[in-house]
Amino acid sequence: MAASESNLDTIAAISTPPGRGGIGIVRLSGPQAAQIAVDLVRLRPPLEPGRARLADVLDESAAIDSGRIDEALVTFFAAPHSYTGDDLVEISAHGSPVVLELLLRRALEAGARLAEPGEFTQRAFLGGRLDLTQAEAVRDLIEAQTLTQARQAAGQLGGALSRRVQPVKNLLVELIALLEAGIDFAEDDVDVTTQAEIAHRIDELTPPLTALAASFTRGRIVHDGLTLAIVGRPNAGKSSLFNALVERDRAIVTATPGTTRDTVSERISLDGIPLELVDTAGLRGSLGEKLEEAEQLGIVRSREALADAALVLVVLDQTQPLNDEERDLLVSLAGRPALAVLNKCDLVSAHTSPPQCGSLPTVTTSALTGEGIPALRDRILTLATGGAASEPGMLTSLRHHQSITTALAALADAAHANATAIPHEMILIDLYRALWALDSLTGQTTPDDILNLIFATFCIGK
Ligand code: GDP
Repeated sequence: MAASESNLDTIAAISTPPGRGGIGIVRLSGPQAAQIAVDLVRLRPPLEPGRARLADVLDESAAIDSGRIDEALVTFFAAPHSYTGDDLVEISAHGSPVVLELLLRRALEAGARLAEPGEFTQRAFLGGRLDLTQAEAVRDLIEAQTLTQARQAAGQLGGALSRRVQPVKNLLVELIALLEAGIDFAEDDVDVTTQAEIAHRIDELTPPLTALAASFTRGRIVHDGLTLAIVGRPNAGKSSLFNALVERDRAIVTATPGTTRDTVSERISLDGIPLELVDTAGLRGSLGEKLEEAEQLGIVRSREALADAALVLVVLDQTQPLNDEERDLLVSLAGRPALAVLNKCDLVSAHTSPPQCGSLPTVTTSALTGEGIPALRDRILTLATGGAASEPGMLTSLRHHQSITTALAALADAAHANATAIPHEMILIDLYRALWALDSLTGQTTPDDILNLIFATFCIGK
């Protein structure tokens, strides 16, 4: 949808989730929002900007004496002091889908159009109320599954990311202006900026962008989470460890080998990072073993889970010597983010030498007594984040990361061009490319089709 045509019409949607609830909200935005609302319900006091008004929702065709089917609270936000920047009305009724649908149908009959997913926020963006990173933060806030994710989104909504990019952009624009002036006034005796000065100015732009790009290491997992596969031979204590990490009895723990036949997964939040724990069926693929079909299926799944997982925990029973399969597994995981968990430490004496786990880091635990579990959590967290700390305005989306890396690459090209004394016109091309990339992050130069894709990931009514 083009920016120019979007705000001519009035959009409407049910903004509360589908289903029944204590209250439900129909939202209208656009030039006719107030008029449609006045026609839609019988207002007791008239609409006034910034005030909630009691109103009756009428059902004219019904044989109810009063004609009233519900009571609603109508709030009018006059342009430009509204979420979208246009006139906006919220009608809160009881959360009955039939009443809300009645209100919506009438709004559409009165001239409103059904809002596309994310269209209210898209209007806020097009109207300059939010930049694109803030608009995306609205979606992330709604979709947050952990408080840490919500905090991160709220920070971005408050402009934390934009504030980190803005000073870099200002410096870049200054440099561009300097070079443009040198070219425009070349014949008028304006000093041409020296190669050293340009190099210095480009150098200044790079560190904040590099730091921002690096923040994606943690930002992406805060946003997307990770999958952690737990593998090991039957009875090593995988399910018990899984439960110790999940802290409730999700997987069934038994003393008979091979009971966890299928993969069981559970989402947990470790220091605010969503982790999908996958407890696998165990590796029992050795030749000649007679396996039931269900167990075989489980093994296939466990290998798939292993291949897909970002992190792997190999659980070893310290009371048993390593078998060939465990050795192979440990070798195959070299170089991948993996931990060897030496479990059942409560059953071995402190003098027993631990199994050799090759290059994998090890953690000693007892799923039974809980010993080593906090250390295991810490190690998982370090492995997941690469040790990167949380910081305000981290990059959490691939789109943002790509904008920053494109800007960095363009700046590197500009620095190279400058070093080889290429004419300023050519350096400017690289600098404009960097500026364009930074602008696309905040939305000034994001193409319409990309914008539409972004807003299509929102829910209707937001
Ligand atoms: P899985 O087959 O690898 O999932 O192993 P389970 O978690 O089902 O554990 C198998 C058996 O070992 C159960 O009887 C557990 O109670 C026991 N077990 C698991 N971890 C420990 C531990 O750290 N210490 C002791 N003593 N027993 C454990």
